[in-house]
Parts: sequence; C-alpha cells; structure tokens
Amino acid sequence: MYNATRRPLRSRILRWYARAARDLPWRRTRDPYAIWVSEVMLQQTQVARVAPAYESFLRRFPTVASLARARLASVLRAWAGLGYNRRALNLHRAARLAGGSLPSDAQALRALPGIGRYTASAVACFATGAPEAFADTNIRRVLGRIALGRVATLDEAVAIDAALLPPRAADRWHHALMDLGAMLCLSRHPRCGECPVREVCAGRGTAGEPAGRRQSAFATSDRKVRGEIVRALRGARGGLSERALAAAIGDPRVHALARTLEQEGLLSRRGSRLVLG
Ligand code: SF4
Repeated sequence: MYNATRRPLRSRILRWYARAARDLPWRRTRDPYAIWVSEVMLQQTQVARVAPAYESFLRRFPTVASLARARLASVLRAWAGLGYNRRALNLHRAARLAGGSLPSDAQALRALPGIGRYTASAVACFATGAPEAFADTNIRRVLGRIALGRVATLDEAVAIDAALLPPRAADRWHHALMDLGAMLCLSRHPRCGECPVREVCAGRGTAGEPAGRRQSAFATSDRKVRGEIVRALRGARGGLSERALAAAIGDPRVHALARTLEQEGLLSRRGSRLVLG
C-alpha cells in the first residue's frame, strides 16, 4: 500500500521536520558513544529529563574509556534523576567490554555484549546516517498508523521502515518520525488535522488506542522502593547498614529488594554496610 506513496510520504515528513524539528543535544553529535548514552537514557525516561542528565553525564564521562575506568558507584551517582538504575549498570558493563572505543557500524555494535538490535541500528544510523531500519515506540505508532491504520508490532514497523527508508540521511528520517510521534501522532489524541501525512495516512482520524496495559501497582511500588534504596545509598558515601536503610525508607520490602539489587550487581556489602556498586 505505502509503496505507491513512498516518495511523497517521505518528502512530506522530511519537509515538516525541517521546520518543526526538536533541538536535542544528542542530535548535535556524530560520536557513537554519546549517541549510545542518549539512546540508553531515552529508553525509559522522558526527553525533558534526559537532556540535562545527558549533558552532565558526558561531562563526567566524555569517552567510553572514561566510563569503563569509572567505579560503578560514580556511574550510579551520575545517573541520579533518571531512574531504572539497571541501565547504568548495563551501560557500565558494556563500556568495559567495548575495549576502549565504540564502533559506528551496526554489525560491529551488535557484536558487543549489552548492545541489542535496536540500539545498534539506532546508534549506527544516528552516527553515520546509514540506512538502518529500526523502530522505537513512536516509530511503531507513526508508521503503523500510516501504513496499517493501527500501531504496528515491532517486526511490522521495522519492515515498513525498511521499505520507506531514504537511502541517504536516514538519521533525519528517524528523527522526523520520532518527532512526529512525540508532537502530533500522539498515543491517545493524535493531532491529525496538523499532520503532514493526513491525506495518505490509513489511521487518520483515529481516536487513539486505549492506554496500554498498566503495570500492577505492586510492580510500580517495588520499583519505587528500589529507586529509594539507590537514592539513599547515593547520599551515603560510606554506605548504610540494612537496618538504617530500612528505617530511612520505612518499607518492609527493603530487605528483600536490597538482596535483589545486590544479586544484580547494583549494591555490595562492605562489612555490615550496603554500598553502591
Ligand atoms: S494523520 Fe493522524 S494518525 Fe496519521 S500519522 Fe498523522 S497524526 Fe498520526
């Protein structure tokens, strides 16, 4: 269906992007390391919170080698405010395995432990403009609605993206799709009237899908307590005893969750104290 409209569709989206693009700090670099950091931060945190954290993280760890040399506790401190601290742990581990530099080629990136298919393709595309097909949540929604009239599955979205991808400047193409998803093709209330592809979109005028399955209140609050444990230890350089930690947080799950965080490698025990890293 979209084959017939491929060119006009692309040019409408790219023209819209030329005037509406968001100015984001990770779009001003071609350094695969900096782009990788931004991609990991953006996985579960909103753009507005990532932007300042990204810049201060890169001031602290400007290269993959500096990140690899750092202690995990310092990396977790620099991650403050972003949540989902396991991402910092994985970033740090992957930096240590990367051997001092990060390639900008998708295949070489994919071969590194800790860098998955999406991240490898996105980093390669944004670092070099290479025509790599990939899809995040926004891209799945935008391309799915345009071509199928509904949100696409990941595999569908990657296939649609591969069919539409311009041979050059694929980085601009993906930034444009992400911006379209963030600014107009919103999950619940798409603003089709302002959309550059409204005339060719199979999903135009849809009211938006119902909110996705929410995580249970239990899972949400488990995550909250995990975050509170890491935050408390961030502020206590010499660490805290488990009892002091439980008293500070006031939640009975602290003991069990501290053990989980320890097994995951985010915490360790120094004598009777729990410390970060
Ligand atoms: S026309 Fe509406 S549904 Fe289609 S891409 Fe634009 S905002 Fe999304």
